[in-house]
Amino acid sequence: MSAGVALISGGARGIGRACVRQLAQDGYDVSFCYRADERAATELEKELGEEGTRVLAMRADVTDGAAVREWVSRTERELGPVTTAVTAAGITADTPLATMPDDKWTSVLRTNLDGVFTVCRAVAFPMMKRRAGSITTVSSVTGIYGNAGQTNYAASKAGIIGFTKSLAREAGRFGVRANVVAPGLIDTDMSDAMPEKARNHLIESIALRRAGSPEEVAELVGFLASERAGYITGSVLEIHGGYGG
Ligand code: NDP
Repeated sequence: MSAGVALISGGARGIGRACVRQLAQDGYDVSFCYRADERAATELEKELGEEGTRVLAMRADVTDGAAVREWVSRTERELGPVTTAVTAAGITADTPLATMPDDKWTSVLRTNLDGVFTVCRAVAFPMMKRRAGSITTVSSVTGIYGNAGQTNYAASKAGIIGFTKSLAREAGRFGVRANVVAPGLIDTDMSDAMPEKARNHLIESIALRRAGSPEEVAELVGFLASERAGYITGSVLEIHGGYGG
């Protein structure tokens, strides 16, 4: 029997992809959206289908509220009511504030913060009506501790924390949980873009002296989605191998 229906934004690559795989392994039917990388999305959809998971992959830009509503409606039509949602879609556009052009500010805020709003708005009310469900948003240690060159990204990721804590307060009495995971350095295409010197310097400040894997983050996301996390809501779970200092 299916564990429910999991909906993951930005599921074709990186942390989102690992979450799709984890939740499929945990017995959920999975629906994920992507923005551009159709090849990665189709490959994952095929792999999961062959493993016997009911899966839907759909192009939907999270900055487009109508596209997200269509994605969620199609998911509910084809797989059933969404029981857990994960917002993993995100981008960076790093630049010191002094030289930050409007478009780098806006694109990061639109994707990372508005993109969480569009997905959560589409799934939260139906969950509240059904008196069940869980939402996990993906923030970052940068949203908690800040990082030079990432004022746009930090603002978006800090916004996700306030947003999710407020959602947890709105939805809790309807039996719906909402939590944040805040990863540190995780090995994905996004972190590959970091210059080697900066990456080595960052690793020196991590107690475990290594980057995390997307699968390690997905493990936590899988736990938060499950009944084992039934009394956890409004929380920020940091996963960074002992970052800081
Ligand atoms: P990747 O760049 O590997 O993957 C990002 C995913 O988001 C891709 O699947 C991409 O789709 C999707 N995406 C981007 N923009 C949109 C959009 N507008 N609409 C729909 N999907 C979109 O990044 P990561 O896996 O590293 O990051 C995942 C999340 O984790 C992000 O929110 C990131 O901020 C956060 N994070 C990452 C850390 C790291 O070190 N890697 C650390 C802390 C947090 P497509 O391929 O189609 O473009």
